[in-house]
Amino acid sequence: MLKFAVIGHPVAHSLSPAIHAANFRALGIDATYEAFDFAPEALSSGVARLVLEGYAGFNVTVPHKQAMINLVMLDESAARYLAVNTVKVGSGGMMRGYNTDVAGFLDDLEANGFDVPGKQVLVMGAGGAGSAVARGCLEAGALDVTIANRTPRDGMLPLGSELCRKIAENVDLVVNATSVGLRPDDPAPIEAKFSAKQVVYDLAPVKWTTAIVKAARESGAKALTGHGMLVRQAARAFEIWTGKKADVAAMFAAVHEFKV
Ligand code: NAP
Repeated sequence: MLKFAVIGHPVAHSLSPAIHAANFRALGIDATYEAFDFAPEALSSGVARLVLEGYAGFNVTVPHKQAMINLVMLDESAARYLAVNTVKVGSGGMMRGYNTDVAGFLDDLEANGFDVPGKQVLVMGAGGAGSAVARGCLEAGALDVTIANRTPRDGMLPLGSELCRKIAENVDLVVNATSVGLRPDDPAPIEAKFSAKQVVYDLAPVKWTTAIVKAARESGAKALTGHGMLVRQAARAFEIWTGKKADVAAMFAAVHEFKV
């Protein structure tokens, strides 16, 4: 039996065990997928224990994606985005780290009919996910990518500025990569009037309709939620671990009840 896991802090809310279990069931694979809460100071010992106990691979979530860089050999994707969300444990316990978040995000845009090349993009939030997604859009051929952040640095646009609002109302794709929306009563990270030709992608994979998704839908814009990215990064992780194609439809069915 193959053993997989997700590690984070906290991690109890993670949808990854349900997503992976559905895929194992659909493909008839004898495997388990557990969630382990490792505090930052216990990260290195916790990871060593997973290797000793014979786990074939694991996912990494908040707040460990950057710290994991120092514990594994880096695949090109992890080195490029300076974040590890997938680890494959090879022979002799050798760990290789990958980043499937960005590819999962781009896969989901493509699956929803949005072609990044030539498009104008606004990414709100410059944390781990925002920086990686912004870079991914540029590398995928976006015409331009503006990054806006609450705490502006390195020439970033202030999130609350009038210019940011104007850009949000005119680009092809608006991405919410801030943590705003992770609580049910959060406001939208920006007050903007979207239009029907825009796509608004909220990375938060939550059970409620976030304020920005609601605003996008009310204006006729296409709204996408973080569930798609979550499923597609999981599919890519599974493919790295096993060399087999994931059953993406089964994975989506597993998040359906959590999706709005
Ligand atoms: P992070 O590194 O902690 O970054 C958080 C970002 O949110 C920063 O830009 C921060 O701005 C901003 N922020 C926090 N509170 C804010 C507020 N009150 N107003 C405005 N901005 C605020 O987190 P992350 O890993 O990048 O994750 C960001 C979001 O992406 C989360 O919702 C996470 O769930 C989601 N995500 C989804 C997936 C998926 O598969 N769907 C994968 C990864 C991440 P400052 O710099 O000013 O603090």
